[in-house]
This record gives sequence, C-alpha cells and structure tokens, in this order.
Amino acid sequence: MSNPSLLILPGDGIGPEVMTEVVKIIDWFGAKRGIAFDVSTDLVGGAAYDKHGTPLHDDTMARAQEVDAVLLGAVGGPRYDDLDFSVKPERGLLRLRKEMDLFANLRPAQCFDALADFSSLKKDIVAGLDIMIVRELTSGVYFGEPRGIFKEGNERVGINTQRYTESEIDRIARAAFELARKRGNKVCSMEKANVMESGILWREVVQKVHDEDYADVELSHMYADNGAMQLVRAPKQFDVIVTDNLFGDVLSDCAAMLTGSLGMLPSASLGAPMANGRPKAMYEPVHGSAPDITGQGKANPIACILSFAMALRYSFDLGDEATRVEKAVEKVLADGLRTADLLGHEGETPISTTEMGDAIVAALDASL
Ligand code: NAD
Repeated sequence: MSNPSLLILPGDGIGPEVMTEVVKIIDWFGAKRGIAFDVSTDLVGGAAYDKHGTPLHDDTMARAQEVDAVLLGAVGGPRYDDLDFSVKPERGLLRLRKEMDLFANLRPAQCFDALADFSSLKKDIVAGLDIMIVRELTSGVYFGEPRGIFKEGNERVGINTQRYTESEIDRIARAAFELARKRGNKVCSMEKANVMESGILWREVVQKVHDEDYADVELSHMYADNGAMQLVRAPKQFDVIVTDNLFGDVLSDCAAMLTGSLGMLPSASLGAPMANGRPKAMYEPVHGSAPDITGQGKANPIACILSFAMALRYSFDLGDEATRVEKAVEKVLADGLRTADLLGHEGETPISTTEMGDAIVAALDASL
C-alpha cells in the first residue's frame, strides 16, 4: 500500500517559517513511528502570484484534489494589497475551499493549563477547556442570492440573503454528530430560530438527523446570541457546537480568544469522503501571514503543528498519534518555553520559531 499523501502549501510571510517546523514533525513520524507520508510542496497566495501570475495554479488545484490532505501555512501581505481582487492571495485560499467543497470548518478552542492565565477570562473558567466549533463554510449569508447594493427610490440598499437547503444542514449536522462521538458525545446547535426562518429549518433538520441516526449523542439547541454569552460565562459546558457560516465566523473567533494567542490556534476544513473513505481536507492555522514579524524568527509554529495533529486525527485516523503531538506541545509549554507572542510574565525570554519546533521534536522523542 502506498503512503498517505500530503500537499504542503507554505504560502507567504511566516507561512514558510512555521511550515519548516511542521516538516520536522512529519519527518519525525517517518523516522521514529514508521508512519511515512508522501509529501509534495507547492506555491499558493502571493508566492504563486509572483511565479505564475495567479494565486493558485491549475496544476496545484488538481494536486490538492488528489492528495489525502492539504496543509496550508498562510497567505497575503502588504506587497499584494493593491493587486486586482481576482488575483489577490486570498483568492487562492478561497478557490481551494470552494473547489474541494470543504463545507465543515472545525475550530477547536483548547486551553493548555500552562497558558490559562493568558486568557482574558478567569483562569478557573478556561483551564482545561476543550471545545470544538463546527462552522458551515460553503453556504449561508456569505453566498446566498440575491446580494448586492441596489438603488431603491432615492437611496441605496445593501442586500445579502441567508439561505440554507435541507441537504446543506443535514451534512453539517452529521459532521458534528460524528465528531461528538469521538469526543464528549454532546452537540449544541446554535441558530436564531426565534427570528429567522432559516433558523427554524436549521433546528428541525438537526433534530431530525439526530433522532434518526444519532440518538446516542446528547443534543441541545441554543439561540446564537445566548451562545455567545454562554461561551464567555461558562465555556466548559460545551463539547461540540454546530452553527451556520455567519454565526460560526463570530462564535469561533470569540471561542478562540478564550485560549490566548493567535499563534496557538489550528483549524481543519473537511468535505465529503473521497473514494478511499477519507474526507477531502485542508488543515491550516487560524492566523495570517504576520508581515510584522516575518523573517525575524519570532513566529509561533504551534498553531501550524496542531493543525498537522488535526490531520493525523481526522484524515488518517491516528488519534493516539495526534494526542502524542498535543501532549508534546503541552510539555514544552509546561516547561516554560515561550515564543514572543506567549510572553506574559516579567523576566521571561522568548525562544525562536526553530527552537520551539526543536523542543517539540525533543518532547516527542521523550514520549517514546
Ligand atoms: P495575522 O494573523 O497575520 O497577524 C495578527 C497579529 O498576530 C500580528 O501582530 C502577528 O504578528 C500576530 N501573529 C499571527 N500569527 C502569529 C504566530 N504564529 N506567532 C506569533 N505571532 C503571530 O493577521 P493580519 O495582520 O490581520 O493579516 C496579515 C496578512 O495575513 C494580511 O495580508 C491578511 O489578509 C492575511 N491573512 C491570511 C489568513 C490566511 O492565510 N488564512 C488569515 C488572516 C489574515
């Protein structure tokens, strides 16, 4: 049997810097655990534009459709700000998400004990937090028609349309229930069924999917505004939260901040299963290309490394190995190692991107 395949797209800014550290972890699995990947690397974003005049070459898109998982660093930067909208670096990312039909965006909010006093909330509210927000990513108000700015009498009117079909709700609900079964077995679905018809349909379909196929999973429904409140009041009450594109955008950023730095946050975007049973998948840190620190060895590689851990768990069914990576990250943080973005106390000195990657590899070694 051939090795599982990975396409690495480091992108721009700190993307290549943090991805170099991920490659060390990938190599470690080949050398020390006998888990080898067929890795190919290509360009995306501004780097692809510089070479090909487009933020994603057709050959790269085709390769992304073939591999078992895509790992992406980050795209964008001030050099590309004035480019035409159609060739901006972000278009490369959006094309990947759209053409791979990555409809389920998984955003974990996990608080490592060593960083608990980093959160804007009290330590006991966030210590040990481990929740997962499942956001619908390819439909809803960001895509619904009609949309635009139109003239109505003497003034203009801006219109966007919240639109969800039953099948779109059905598939994201299934993704959430499947995930919950591998975690705490609890799903909370969030919408605004009190004021939106799309919310009424959302609630009905989620309940139907639950009753027919996932009755073993605990399901609750919550209005999204209350959900936002509960996330900062008592976030540990949640396990998996499933919600639409717009509410998911806001709620996942809110949940992310419970845990501290942007440099710590991974994500996964999953689509339908391929012929081999694995979902179409792209894994990427939540952060951008951080032009303000590019080339200075200051970038925290942990978000990107934890994104690879998500790939191990969700694309390759290697949950124990994913946990091994997460525990290695936990260990280096508990040992007091910090990149510049994680400095919280006087007298702490930061380590570099490379040193953080090497420390995580050493912690992996120690786990054997
Ligand atoms: P950003 O996430 O790049 O940076 C925000 C702040 O967080 C900066 O101060 C940065 O130094 C810091 N930061 C981010 N990641 C870090 C890490 N790993 N380690 C340490 N510090 C980190 O967001 P921005 O500044 O708004 O955007 C910069 C560029 O990135 C823009 O071109 C934007 O369009 C692009 N962007 C890309 C993505 C993506 O590729 N998915 C996401 C967001 C922004």
